[in-house]
Amino acid sequence: MSKYIYCFGDGKAEGSAADKNLLGGKGANLAEMAILGLPVPTGFTLSTDCCIDYLAEGGKLPESVHQELANAMTTVEESMGMKFGDSDNPLLVSCRSGARKSMPGMMETVLNVGLCSKTIPGMIKQTGNEWFVYDAYRRLITMYSDVVMEKAEGIEPKDGMGIRIHLEMILNDYKNDHGYDTDAEIPASEMKEICEKFKAKIAEELGTVFPDDHNDQLLGSIGAVFKSWNGKRAIAYRRIEHIPDEWGTAVNVQSMVFGNMGDSSATGVAFTRDPASGENIFYGEWLQNAQGEDVVAGIRTPNPLNNKTKMDHNEHLLSLEDGMPELYNDLVKIRKLLEEHYSDMQDIEFTIQQGKLYMLQCRVGKRTGTAALQMAMDMHSEGMIDEKTMILRLDPQQLDEMLHPVVDSDAEKVTTPIAQGLPAGPGGALGQIVFSSEDAVRWHKNGQKVILVREETNPEDIEGMRAAEGILTARGGMTSHAALVARGWGKCCIVGAGALKIDYAQKQLIIGSQVYNEGDFVTLNGTLGVVYAGQLKMKDATENPLFKQYMEIADKYRTLGIRTNAETPEDAEQALQFGAEGIGLFRTEHMFYGSNSEQPLFLLRKVILSKSIDERIYALNELFPFVKDTIYKTLEVMDGKPVTFRLLDPPLHEFIPHTKESKEELAQATGIDIAELERRSSLLEETNPMMGHRGVRLGITFPEITKMQMKAIFEAAAELLKAGKTPLPEIMVPVTCSEKELEVTKAICDDVYSEALAKYDFDSIEYKFGTMIEIPRAALLSAKMAQTAEFFSYGTNDLTQMTYGFSRDDIGSFMGDYIDHAILDDDPFASLDEEAVGELVKTSAERGRSTNPEIKLGICGEHGGDPKSIDFCHRTGLNYVSCSPFRVPIARLAAAQAAINND
Ligand code: ADP
Ligand code: MG
Ligand code: MG
Repeated sequence: MSKYIYCFGDGKAEGSAADKNLLGGKGANLAEMAILGLPVPTGFTLSTDCCIDYLAEGGKLPESVHQELANAMTTVEESMGMKFGDSDNPLLVSCRSGARKSMPGMMETVLNVGLCSKTIPGMIKQTGNEWFVYDAYRRLITMYSDVVMEKAEGIEPKDGMGIRIHLEMILNDYKNDHGYDTDAEIPASEMKEICEKFKAKIAEELGTVFPDDHNDQLLGSIGAVFKSWNGKRAIAYRRIEHIPDEWGTAVNVQSMVFGNMGDSSATGVAFTRDPASGENIFYGEWLQNAQGEDVVAGIRTPNPLNNKTKMDHNEHLLSLEDGMPELYNDLVKIRKLLEEHYSDMQDIEFTIQQGKLYMLQCRVGKRTGTAALQMAMDMHSEGMIDEKTMILRLDPQQLDEMLHPVVDSDAEKVTTPIAQGLPAGPGGALGQIVFSSEDAVRWHKNGQKVILVREETNPEDIEGMRAAEGILTARGGMTSHAALVARGWGKCCIVGAGALKIDYAQKQLIIGSQVYNEGDFVTLNGTLGVVYAGQLKMKDATENPLFKQYMEIADKYRTLGIRTNAETPEDAEQALQFGAEGIGLFRTEHMFYGSNSEQPLFLLRKVILSKSIDERIYALNELFPFVKDTIYKTLEVMDGKPVTFRLLDPPLHEFIPHTKESKEELAQATGIDIAELERRSSLLEETNPMMGHRGVRLGITFPEITKMQMKAIFEAAAELLKAGKTPLPEIMVPVTCSEKELEVTKAICDDVYSEALAKYDFDSIEYKFGTMIEIPRAALLSAKMAQTAEFFSYGTNDLTQMTYGFSRDDIGSFMGDYIDHAILDDDPFASLDEEAVGELVKTSAERGRSTNPEIKLGICGEHGGDPKSIDFCHRTGLNYVSCSPFRVPIARLAAAQAAINND
């Protein structure tokens, strides 16, 4: 028969921190603290197995649990010298949920379980405090009806008015009617009356009666926690966080200690180091005469834990250090002990009951990226963790925060925010507010820094979003358009700041009674989702010497090379600063989009619309100097580092203008008759352009286009060589599916290469010839492809698209359903699908190396910046990953972690 219940307390425990899977995080750490000899109120944990079996039996506790429960309760009663349900000296307990991973706000705790008409008199006798007992009873009724009677039963409150709100209204109305400002002013007899009103309301609203039996309350609370595992909110949360349904949650039943028994009682939360800055100072908040949930609920401003961490808003409040110096010292000792024991920053909950300290929780504390870095480096130099652990301590994504300017945290401490939204894009931004994409672009061109403020954004706002320092929207969630776009660019963005009212006509932003006009300054903290009026001081986070040092240490462990995807010499420069070791993907066509593209684009259009080969070669010659110039500049910036130039990839039709006016303009400029131009351009139209005449296929039809590009590459390289530089170009052929395509293209390459050698009088120019592997056929034929190719670069975006048969541009319409139905765990375009796409990459790598052991292998899809995919690349033995410039540091760290974790 399996054991379901594990006791803790009195310096011992049946479980420990190693049992998180069985006892949940909270239960495992309570056991661990008990073993460490910390003052943990005695209790027991019903295991996650018990939850699974409870749910499997349709909401019934396994038979054997009842006996175990009785035994465990006896243990607690003996330890506390009280009895659960006793009329003289009753024991009260809390019922706390705790899964393996914390699921914030998913399942709530019920405190004061065991208070009922039988036990209330005994409780009053023991404490001599009638008010306290009825206040505790009121809290029990509120939590129990909310968590057990409503949420766990899946009752959807009418008009969003849950039972908790009804009860809070009763209390508030009562206080208003009687002129009481605080709960403490309500006399005990009236508190008792309020409890009766609560119970009547519950019967009226929910149609069931609040249980007046201690055992019913206990079993009800335990069942509610188990049931909540399958509640709507919990399921939705698990999907997002990829938490398996089979885990289940544990329940901790623990004897109550009271922080609300008068002025020698208190409750608080603390972090063993500052979770925002990472500084090695004890940081926390506490409240005198309060119960645990009061600190987080924000009903009163909590007091600072010590004098060192006082801030403007709580400077006048008594610190625990001054108020209860002895207990504060005990807590400082516990802080030290826990940090040394866990070798990491801990987040703790404590309660003081009439001058005695109790520990109620500890867990690894959440922290900002900056704090994570600071702590990891400090703990390493303090000798608390080794270097590898230090490198593993940061989530690579947390680096994101450090690659953008951030708001100076000292400035933030002394400024009150004007609004709060969701932290959609990291870093900080400061600028003048504008209300339209056009204004953002215009102001930006005038050299002004702007914050684009919109109700929400849509694809038409892209230009303005690009031009803005930061984006602020009133609506939308973490996956809204604004959020996705901003994150993609690593741009500071706050969405869904509900307090914002925007008047586009008046160009005004209204928050409460404050009006902000176009041009007013605001500062955004995108990492926290906080908006400030005016200009706060900013800091460039990469200046942080700790960051540099940390990354250098990470590089020591890394075996994968890190390159970047860049389109312009400026991008390349940026990526170099972030530590890129080469360019893994340079898309030549980019010179035909965006700024300064008018002339080359016009010439390209001439090429495309040419009727004869002579006409086309003439146009190509005109285009040539532009192509060569971009290539030259990029190779120059990347001196001594490889640059992979991908030959022209998109279908040509993409470059033809689509509106009537621009077509007429083009007809005028080229001297082609408009009807003829229409005819030629309609010839280029395709049903499935993305699977159409593009990539290498263009070069098969129009070898002169390929020739021109290769000539530009070799001549740029030759001229740089003459100038004493070390260009390392790599020519990459896109969209191949057959080794014959490569052979044909290589023959062109050989010709152009010989011509360049002759022209510049060189014996050789160093370069590589290779291909992108993005079609499953090419992956499978890699043994043959590798006989011509000196490198493969896995274009995993297209490879994913072709392997799944999902169009990555249209996947949004059904991806949500696929995740909801658990058909897919992850978006395969964000994180590489190892099962099939990964299998193709692995097969290709093996086959390629079988015929060409020297072949270089890399990936250049979006996945190149995704830590999980990078781990796969490491295990598969690729040579490098290539990602966008802002992800380079993330990739460096992820590659180092992959090396540490796998070797
Ligand atoms: P959460 O996971 O939401 O923090 P907890 O189970 O930690 O939920 O409990 C909520 C609050 O109740 C916390 O402040 C906690 O310290 C307090 N609490 C829980 N159990 C007890 C107890 N036995 N005695 C006193 N306070 C408790
Ligand atoms: Mg807690
Ligand atoms: Mg492609």
